[in-house]
Amino acid sequence: MFAHEDLFHAFLIKYAEIGIKGKNRYLFEDALIRQIRFALKAAEGEFAVRKVTGRIYVEARTPFDFDEVVECLTHVFGIAGICPMVQFDNNGFEDLKERLLDYVGKVHPEGNFTFKVQTKRADKRFPMDSNEINAALGEALLEAYPGLRVDVHEPDVFFYVEVRERINLYSRIIPGPGGMPVGTSGKAMLLLSGGIDSPVAGWMVAKRGVKIDAVYFHAPPYTSERAKEKVVDLAKLVSRYAGPMDLHVINFTDIQLYIYDQCPHEELTIIMRRYMMRIAEAIAEETGALGLITGESIGQVASQTLPSLACTNEVCRLPVFRPVIGFDKQDIVDIALKINTFETSIQPFEDCCTIFVAKHPVTKPNRKVIRRSEEKLAEKIDEMVKTALETREVIRVE
Ligand code: ATP
Ligand code: MG
Repeated sequence: MFAHEDLFHAFLIKYAEIGIKGKNRYLFEDALIRQIRFALKAAEGEFAVRKVTGRIYVEARTPFDFDEVVECLTHVFGIAGICPMVQFDNNGFEDLKERLLDYVGKVHPEGNFTFKVQTKRADKRFPMDSNEINAALGEALLEAYPGLRVDVHEPDVFFYVEVRERINLYSRIIPGPGGMPVGTSGKAMLLLSGGIDSPVAGWMVAKRGVKIDAVYFHAPPYTSERAKEKVVDLAKLVSRYAGPMDLHVINFTDIQLYIYDQCPHEELTIIMRRYMMRIAEAIAEETGALGLITGESIGQVASQTLPSLACTNEVCRLPVFRPVIGFDKQDIVDIALKINTFETSIQPFEDCCTIFVAKHPVTKPNRKVIRRSEEKLAEKIDEMVKTALETREVIRVE
């Protein structure tokens, strides 16, 4: 991707939103460092992740694969930009100048562009101030590379020089995913199905710094082991961004069959969804999650009309986050492609919701009617919910 990747042994991590959090800033920085360390476990090599006066540096301690490290870092929410950096000892101006000239020759061989040198002198023992360094380095560049021109307002390239105990030099900024570091905004429970929408919904909420765990409703033998594996795979893909998570697998078969036996078939989907929400909320409360997340989007299917959403929602006390609520399918697909869940989501495995689906499910459920139908479940349902919760399988996903 870059010329002379072997020049770089460190990265400066730029972060945007967390810069404005005042007194809590260190909490955000610490969470970001934690997430960077977690992400780098997937890369070959040893790295030091350090915070130095309001900046975060990733420094390689061993040989590493440049593209692999960049790939890992682009999965860390809170990172606005990744700057591959050249670091060297502070040996005075002449040495700095030689190194900059060498850097520009190698990293920007195109040779024909406008630039500005931007120096930050944190080490005040350096005998020139920032402006003097900018001017002298700019002059040296113009002399050495006739294709270059200075533009202090809108240069094509900024050369950033940081004079500290050592000197940092960088000019390229690879965009990060933005958002906030996971672990800075509490925890929520994602209802994760094998579809396209719920992984995207979980990713969006995690992007705001929320730690997520997930729950999947499994209906063996109507849904296969492969359908469950697919959900585990999706959880893994989301966890590349969201960090490690627990996936709670609920055996939903008995409850579904019971609803099927007792209630009008056109109400099956909506009643089933109400039980999913109740069970998800019970797990959320047990694990300290403060909200539920679903991939619902208005009008997408019968159970996602406004009356249906209101009907599902009324059984929850916790807030239900539906980050894709106003998205068209294509908007959701675009994100699924970007975060690499799409290919897995479209694998054709049966979904527990589709097994018993009526030909004409209600699209305008009347809440009173639904409540009355649910009364027909009174005899056994509490016990069944309890059993489903107690017998759930918890899969640790990283
Ligand atoms: P998705 O693509 O996320 O599966 P969908 O378009 O298939 O969504 P529904 O099947 O109506 O829509 O499900 C709506 C939401 O309910 C899902 O986005 C998900 O959050 C949750 N959900 C549905 N089925 C399950 C399941 N088996 N396990 C866990 N959550 C589920
Ligand atoms: Mg679905």
